[in-house]
Amino acid sequence: MKALLFACMSALAAAPSDAADTVTIAAGVNLIPGTFVPGRQPDGNSVVFRTAEGLVVFDTGRHTEHTQKILDYAKDAGLPIKAVINSHWHLDHVGGNPRIREAYPDVRVYASMAIAGAMGGFLANYRKQLVEAIAQTKGEKTAQSYRDEIAIIDAGHALYPDEVVAKSGTRRIAGRDFELHLQARAVTEGDVWLYDPATRTLVAGDLVTLPVPLFDTACPARWQSALADLDRVQFKTLVPGHGAPMQRTQFAVYRHAYANLLACAATDKDKNACIDGWLADAKPLLADADTAFVRMLAGYYIDNSLRAPKAKIDQLCNADTGQTKH
Ligand SMILES: [Zn+2]
Repeated sequence: MKALLFACMSALAAAPSDAADTVTIAAGVNLIPGTFVPGRQPDGNSVVFRTAEGLVVFDTGRHTEHTQKILDYAKDAGLPIKAVINSHWHLDHVGGNPRIREAYPDVRVYASMAIAGAMGGFLANYRKQLVEAIAQTKGEKTAQSYRDEIAIIDAGHALYPDEVVAKSGTRRIAGRDFELHLQARAVTEGDVWLYDPATRTLVAGDLVTLPVPLFDTACPARWQSALADLDRVQFKTLVPGHGAPMQRTQFAVYRHAYANLLACAATDKDKNACIDGWLADAKPLLADADTAFVRMLAGYYIDNSLRAPKAKIDQLCNADTGQTKH
């Protein structure tokens, strides 16, 4: 997320683009697309499942506008939001939790407990950066966007799960069976992904992201093995944390491009060669992407994640605070 703050500060003039309308993934399964554009912090994708009892929402976005789309969807459907499932604690996925709790006080939130470790570490540091950035910025709009970030962090336990996902298995949520899978130390210390056998929909969270893998808090090698786990599921459609839904052939392209990016970064090849490789390998998935933005993000992650000092990578790959081992 440090990178996302960096991305935010480096291109402040750009305006947010309108997200596409709700996309139908399968019967009773709809995607509310997030946005990820230069100059603005991203919102993760949200997926809404209709059940006999109401709605189950996977990830709640960051900005008010995104969460409002979820609330509007529920209002239009005339159905209550019974449950929220958070893929991980990044603010573009849990940021809408407090607003949904406010509108639906009985909602149950499902997630791993990795957010507890993040609150004392990554998010505490990020909050400090934001306070410093507010003191330095002259733009009121920018300062407000930083204050909004702080407000999400300060929501504290409203972001936390009510139902801890401590292991993989089938959970009956709002009268419907979902497979919830827990992946340890891939994108974060505890990532949850969902498989809906009834519609063969896999909702991957940030285990799949476009226009590049977002490595901020990731263990790159464990993430790669998580992609192999996803590939073993007989899904029809995979919804990434950022980017458009994928069919199996597109996911294969992503996996191949991811593997090549890690392999290239592990050599002493020039960074630009690895960025070119990503652009070429992932080309079928990047039709709508802003190439300069992709280059900036990929370069940032090669420098700060894939080629980070070994101690930093080891810490992300081996961190064990017991949060995911209940
Ligand atoms: Zn995200």
